[in-house]
Amino acid sequence: MADQDAADCRTASPLTGKKRAQQSPGLRPKCQGSAPGHCLRRVTLTKPTFCHSCSDFIWGLVGFLCEVCNFMCHEKCLKTLRWPCSCMTPAAVRVPVAHCFGPAGQKKRFCCVCRKPTEGNAALRCEVCELHVHADCAVFSCADCRSSHLDGTLEQDTFHHHWREGNLASAARCDVCRRSCGSSDVLAGIRCEWCGVTSHAACYLSVPPECILGRLRCMMLHPACVRLDCRNFSKMHNYRITESWGQDLDNSDDVDQSAAASKEVQPTAPESGKQLLKVFDGDDALKRDCFRLVSIMRATKNEEVVEAALRAFYLPDEPQDFELLELGGAPRLHSNDILNRNGGPDNRGHDNRGPDNRGHDNRGPDNLGHDNRGHDNRGHDNLGHDNLGPDNRGHDNRGHDNRGHDNRGPDNRGPDNRGSLKGRGDAWLLRAKPRDAEVIKVYVGRPRSGAAFISVSVSKASTAASVLTEVLSLLHRQEEDASSFSLVEIYMSNKQVQRQTLTPQEKIQDKLQEIRKVSVRQMNQTRFYLVENRKRAVQVSLLIGGLTPLLTKDEYVQLIQDQLSIKSHLVTVSHVYTSQGAVALQVACFSEAERIYMLAKDTTANNKTLTSLVIPDIAHGELGADVCPLLVFVNPKSGGMKGRELLYSFRKLLNPHQVFDISNGGPLAGLHTFREVPRFRVLVCGGDGTMGWVLGVLEAVRHKLVCREPPIGIVPLGTGNDLARVLRWGAGFSGEDPHHILVSVDEADEVLMDRWTILLDAQDISEDGKDNGFLEPPKIVQMNNYFGLGIDAEVSLDFHQAREDDPDKFTSRFHNKGVYVKVGLQKISCTRSLHKELQLQVDAQNVPLPHIEGLIFLNIPSWGSGADLWGSEVDVRHGKPRIDDGLLEVVGVTGVVHMGQVQSGLRSGIRIAQGNYIRLTVSKPIPVQVDGEPWIQPPGHIIISAAGPKVRMLRKSKQKQKKSSRDGRSESPSSRDGGH
Ligand SMILES: [Zn+2]
Ligand SMILES: [Zn+2]
Ligand SMILES: [Zn+2]
Ligand SMILES: [Zn+2]
Ligand SMILES: [Zn+2]
Ligand SMILES: [Zn+2]
Repeated sequence: MADQDAADCRTASPLTGKKRAQQSPGLRPKCQGSAPGHCLRRVTLTKPTFCHSCSDFIWGLVGFLCEVCNFMCHEKCLKTLRWPCSCMTPAAVRVPVAHCFGPAGQKKRFCCVCRKPTEGNAALRCEVCELHVHADCAVFSCADCRSSHLDGTLEQDTFHHHWREGNLASAARCDVCRRSCGSSDVLAGIRCEWCGVTSHAACYLSVPPECILGRLRCMMLHPACVRLDCRNFSKMHNYRITESWGQDLDNSDDVDQSAAASKEVQPTAPESGKQLLKVFDGDDALKRDCFRLVSIMRATKNEEVVEAALRAFYLPDEPQDFELLELGGAPRLHSNDILNRNGGPDNRGHDNRGPDNRGHDNRGPDNLGHDNRGHDNRGHDNLGHDNLGPDNRGHDNRGHDNRGHDNRGPDNRGPDNRGSLKGRGDAWLLRAKPRDAEVIKVYVGRPRSGAAFISVSVSKASTAASVLTEVLSLLHRQEEDASSFSLVEIYMSNKQVQRQTLTPQEKIQDKLQEIRKVSVRQMNQTRFYLVENRKRAVQVSLLIGGLTPLLTKDEYVQLIQDQLSIKSHLVTVSHVYTSQGAVALQVACFSEAERIYMLAKDTTANNKTLTSLVIPDIAHGELGADVCPLLVFVNPKSGGMKGRELLYSFRKLLNPHQVFDISNGGPLAGLHTFREVPRFRVLVCGGDGTMGWVLGVLEAVRHKLVCREPPIGIVPLGTGNDLARVLRWGAGFSGEDPHHILVSVDEADEVLMDRWTILLDAQDISEDGKDNGFLEPPKIVQMNNYFGLGIDAEVSLDFHQAREDDPDKFTSRFHNKGVYVKVGLQKISCTRSLHKELQLQVDAQNVPLPHIEGLIFLNIPSWGSGADLWGSEVDVRHGKPRIDDGLLEVVGVTGVVHMGQVQSGLRSGIRIAQGNYIRLTVSKPIPVQVDGEPWIQPPGHIIISAAGPKVRMLRKSKQKQKKSSRDGRSESPSSRDGGH
């Protein structure tokens, strides 16, 4: 870091800087043509520090520091500096897309606004891009998230890189100059969030602008192939991100948050010779009592104070267009006001401004009322977001609270402070001066001439219609009818992008003035677009789940009409998944879609809350012929926090629309979204239970998919992971680089695997083997790995009590386990002589059982977390077991000791048979387990037979397994710390 002086100035006092800058006049921001927006000044370094431009160490005592964003670089790097200042972010936005803020992870990251390290829970991160910010800094970020779909209004012809600065993998190299460009000490280097190309901030302009998605291209769902109309659905809803984690985290660390937050704040007490001003950005901030502290030298010109205030709000505007109005100050303050006393010619302004000021205040209610309306108009979302929105509940408030608290906190009111500021007017309102004429930029939805925007000068008389006409003529499209276009105002706030179409007669200057009055910052984040008026049919797809399964289509239509009182002229039921109790709706109206969406989440049917999800449209025809998108399911509850982190990583490495949180809507949500994709692969991140869940739902709905047998890969997050072991995905996830996982999935081989159906028909069987009637209705379960009876299941059942909390078991495929599940194990100890209570028939042959306590049917050569129960020795009576030979291996174990020996590899089980059709007759209640999930099965018949076609699985290729990760270049940023 820089010396104390430098660190202090960064907070918001370009004034001291200006003095120095006058010594080196070439460094005023205006002169920094090559590095837009930075206010760089020379500082003396007292601590080791690194250059944010070239990421090298800065030798010597001289560095250059931006007073607005804390960018630091070598003197030599000034020449090549191309990366814009944080205050220019809104201007650099290509397609405005709001972020989805969630709580930050535990890893050290740097804030993309102020460039300082973020600390734990006081920070936020975007769930779908690599934006990390302090909670306080979030309001100064803008809607520059990744554009992951087309929403019908703003479109692009070419797909460009989406650059994000800093927080790169430490091994990152610049794709232009091949030198290292990452840093774990400062925010340095930039990376494309789609293709993973990395570069220095100085080199990025040499990278061709078009993005072709990089190594993961063939598994990526290209944003241009995804359509989503989503007027008021927040991004969280679009990406099906649940907010619960965020709230959990927020609540659990309340104390830490406030502690951490207080460290990272604006200046608390002014140094001698300096003064702190409370500056409010417009009426909006005033209403919410939300201000920034600006530290200035005591003797400072007015214009410089205004400039300091602008920089504190990350505003690049010229100070002469703005003024500071004193708030609630008593008249006596003017006479000895610091600002005035040294202000020279500016003095005249103050007294004059006084009345003006009061005038403003008098008009206040009106104006405020007006602003309010404007605000509400755009509005609704804006307010909803800050105050009510579930996404942001807390975050925003926290941000404001922090500011409020810290500012008003005892620190600020220390004795020094009180002495120097006593009675002085220290609260100021930042206001734009009225202008006669100004220039606005009008962005053109589809750039034709190459220019992203057209500059148009507007006078008092300019209206939306006159601006449209002028833009068209500047575009040489004057022959087109201006009335078929609209001028659309887009407010690019960090959490919501808001659109408002201007009426043709609307006065542009009034509009600008109105926005600036609400907030100058808001003006900075507002743009105008030329948009062709098109009558577009609204079509929102919703998937409603949690309904009673196995009804007819008519019954479902009736059910959702009753439950959700849908307007049938706006809503059509497009798909019915009876086995899953789910229906897909097409809604032709935004507000109806929103209403149904929200209502479903609050509706309970059969003691189950309905689920509702917004489903994007995949333009499957536009996927390239070589593209085989990957559908990712992550069980965030598997493997501790690992599932959650993987979900986050995969959303960033791929298109977030192809990554599904399986706890929100289950596997159906993903399969339904991909129903028309001609070719895709699936990646399941979870334990064996999650895998079974996906395979089961796939089996049930595959007839509705164009790609009926998508190959499936695994990231083992659970406890057993026997299937993952057999397919070489490993015994458990230990923090591998998510990017490497995706590359392995791409390189994996397809293999076939048998699946089995177990029919459990519980009957009261008497001693002589006669059936005395049903105990419970027959039950059918699917089996992928193994089925065990007796001691094997008993042990597993024992553990099951302790594992109740194991979230992987929440997937429970076998919900209705019947009455016997509640019978205590103590009463059941019947497995001592299993062979006496069991008759086994394999392929219609009776098979005598040796003296055993457990009987296991194996589909895969891994059992109970990796044990080889069948054994490897060759034996003439049996074939070598394969996962696709259509045969089950039948093995016995003599007891717990034997099982232990098998587990430790000392022995194998007793080979009994191989076969593909198994009948069992059980005369007593007995513990059983399917794929590690145990219960107690009443006596009766059990039949195991092949279940439908073999499934296609992905097996990690052998070379890949051995290959170590050497190539750090395209490594994902999240792997930087080795993923602990
Ligand atoms: Zn800067
Ligand atoms: Zn440098
Ligand atoms: Zn920050
Ligand atoms: Zn984002
Ligand atoms: Zn790219
Ligand atoms: Zn470079």
